[in-house]
Amino acid sequence: MGQGNSMARVAFIGLGNMGGGMAANLAKAGHEVRAFDLSEVALERARGKACTPVGSADEALAGAEAVVTMLPAGKHVADVYRGNVLINAPKSAILMDCSTIDVATAKTVAGEAAAAGYTMVDAPGSGGIAAANGGTLTFMVGGSDEGFARAKPFLDQMGKAVIHAGGAGAGQAAKICNNMLLGATMAATCEAFVLAQKLGLDLQTFYDISSKASGQSWSMTSYCPVPGVGPDTPADRDYEGGFATALMLKDLKLAMEAAKEAGAYTPMGGEAEELYQRFADRGGAGKDFSALIKMIDDSWVVPAGA
Ligand code: NAD
Repeated sequence: MGQGNSMARVAFIGLGNMGGGMAANLAKAGHEVRAFDLSEVALERARGKACTPVGSADEALAGAEAVVTMLPAGKHVADVYRGNVLINAPKSAILMDCSTIDVATAKTVAGEAAAAGYTMVDAPGSGGIAAANGGTLTFMVGGSDEGFARAKPFLDQMGKAVIHAGGAGAGQAAKICNNMLLGATMAATCEAFVLAQKLGLDLQTFYDISSKASGQSWSMTSYCPVPGVGPDTPADRDYEGGFATALMLKDLKLAMEAAKEAGAYTPMGGEAEELYQRFADRGGAGKDFSALIKMIDDSWVVPAGA
């Protein structure tokens, strides 16, 4: 547990798939977590996990020493910060936005927070719902040295790694670059397995070879899209759970938006965006993103024994 935050009053706003587990981990670490979400169901779930559900964002913010937001997208974050946090949180509170949002909004809101006298960091997490529940997220943090130092003890209690990426917005930048890489390597991994099968290779044998050869990647060895091959992954549960295609698509769109603004040439990211868009349009939005393999080969045959 980090120095100086052995027990703090934390306002937690956004108790969805990710925020619910993260808030519970802060409560488990001994903090008084005052939790708010627009959804009654989410509030009730938080009550069952040692958090104190409250009726409004402002109620959660009153007297808070730390504020965590875990909201869907940039517009929700801007609304909650402009309408609540930057008005009603104590100026001494450390503000952490853990949502995955566009870099431009992250920088704008951080600028408004600084102008209002607050210390804020953007701290998106990687690892998905299982890591949010298990307290093993990887956080990439954008903000000042002071902001990072103050946020880290709280983030440590929700994650296994907390890395200072740079100034305001750098956490979001790191997150979308990472997920662009993930989207592209997963698409390439799916293609490679489909081709391997068409060429008559045994898929377990191809995995054994490629996972120790230069084609190896996290998409292959930690998140193999083939049922029954590699570690247990969503592929072994008919691609349920895990990281939804819709969320991968969201991150790829954020990456393409940022690339356009920055004038970066990202053809592989663009191709990945198009593939995931097509898969979402064909009904794959709610499936784990590794289910893309089913679209890459419509005749995809689940290997014997899977
Ligand atoms: P979610 O939709 O399950 O949760 C978002 C919650 O925010 C909902 O419960 C919603 O009711 C609440 N909300 C929206 N507007 C609000 C407001 N004004 N005040 C209070 N509550 C409000 O989404 P999630 O899966 O928990 O993801 C949250 C963020 O984390 C997103 O930015 C997402 O991209 C990112 N993320 C998700 C995953 C994942 O695997 N689900 C992984 C990494 C990052």
